[in-house]
Amino acid sequence: MMERKPIKLILSILLVFLIIFMTACSQARQSPVTDKVSKTNIKMDTVVSITLYDWEDSTTIDRAMDEIDRLEALLSVQKEGSELYKLAESAGTAWIAISPETSEVLNIAKKYLLLSNGYFNITVGPLVSLWDIHNGKGHYPNDVEREAAIEFVTCGNLLLKEDEAYLECAGMRADLGAIAKGYIADKVKELLLNEGVEHAIIDLGRNILLIGGKPDGSDFNIGVQDPLSDEGEILTVLNANDKSIVTSGIYERYFEYEGVRYHHILDPYTGYPSDSGLASVTIVSDTSTAGDALSTTCLLLGLDEGMELIESLPETEALFMTTDGEVYMTDIEISLPLSYNR
Ligand code: ADP
Ligand code: MG
Repeated sequence: MMERKPIKLILSILLVFLIIFMTACSQARQSPVTDKVSKTNIKMDTVVSITLYDWEDSTTIDRAMDEIDRLEALLSVQKEGSELYKLAESAGTAWIAISPETSEVLNIAKKYLLLSNGYFNITVGPLVSLWDIHNGKGHYPNDVEREAAIEFVTCGNLLLKEDEAYLECAGMRADLGAIAKGYIADKVKELLLNEGVEHAIIDLGRNILLIGGKPDGSDFNIGVQDPLSDEGEILTVLNANDKSIVTSGIYERYFEYEGVRYHHILDPYTGYPSDSGLASVTIVSDTSTAGDALSTTCLLLGLDEGMELIESLPETEALFMTTDGEVYMTDIEISLPLSYNR
C-alpha cells in the first residue's frame, strides 16, 4: 500500500501538467476566432445581451446600450415623460409632437393593425394596464372592468401626421410592448453596422437579431425554448445568419388566478388573454420589427390564419407550437431534431 503513494503523486503532477498544457494549446488555437466582446444588462424589463465577434473594443457595446436607453425613453409608455406617455396623457385633448423614430414605429404598427384584422392593436393599452401582468402578478378583472377597458380600445383611433400623433378619445393608451423591442434591435443593428461590426448577436430577450454569421463563415445556432416546459428546455436549434429570430409565447409573462394561467398577449375583441390554441410562435425574418409584430400577430391569429399570413410574406418563415404540443414550421433550417415528444 505504502509504495503506491509516490506513483499516485507523480501521476497527479503529470495530470496537472497535462491539463495546463491542453488548456494553453486550446487557447492558442482558438484565440484568432474567438476574439469577441460581450455585455449583458437588464433593460426594457428583460435581459439584454450584445456579443460582437471578431471585435475587441467593448465601448462599441456601450454605445449600443446607450442607443437602447435613448429609444426606450421615447417609446416606453411606462416611462414618465416618454413620447408614448405624453401621447396617452393627451388622449382626447391634444396632438403631440413626435420624433422621427416614434413616427416610424407608430406607422409600422398601424400597418400590422390592418394586416391582422385588428388583432395586433397597440391601442390595447387600457387592457394591458387593467390586467397589469408583471413578475408573476396580475389582476383578474371583472366583466365591468373588462368591458370598460375594451370601450377605451375601440372608442377611437390613433391618428398620425408626419411629426405629430393623437389618440382620439380620453382614456386611450398606445402600448408598444409588442413591437418596440424589435424596432430597437433593428436600430442597434444599424448602429453596429455603421461602426463596422460584421458578426454579432443582439439579444433583447426573445428578440434575437444577427449581424452576419460566425467569423468562420458558418451560421449562428439559436435555441428556441419549448413553451410547454417549465424548466425552459430547448425545443430545437435554428441555424441562421443575418436574420432576426423572435419568439412570442404564452409562457413568458403570466400570472395564476384560481389555478388558471393568464398570459400577457391580449385579444382586443374579448379583453381576455388570447386563446388561439398556440403556445408560441417563432418568426425568422430580415428585420426584427417585422419579426416582433408578426410573432405577436400570429399568436393572436392562431395556426391556420397565422400560417397563411406567413406564407403570403416574402423572406419570412415561422415555427408554431400549439398548446397540445404539436409543431408546425415553414422552411426553417434546424440543427437539432425537435426534442419535443408528447
Ligand atoms: P414580449 O414583449 O414578452 O416579448 P410580445 O412581443 O408578444 O412579447 O408582446 C407582448 C406585449 O404586447 C404585451 O406585454 C403588451 O404590452 C402588448 N400587447 C398585448 N396584447 C396586444 C395586442 N393584441 N396587440 C398589440 N400589442 C399587444
Ligand atoms: Mg411581439
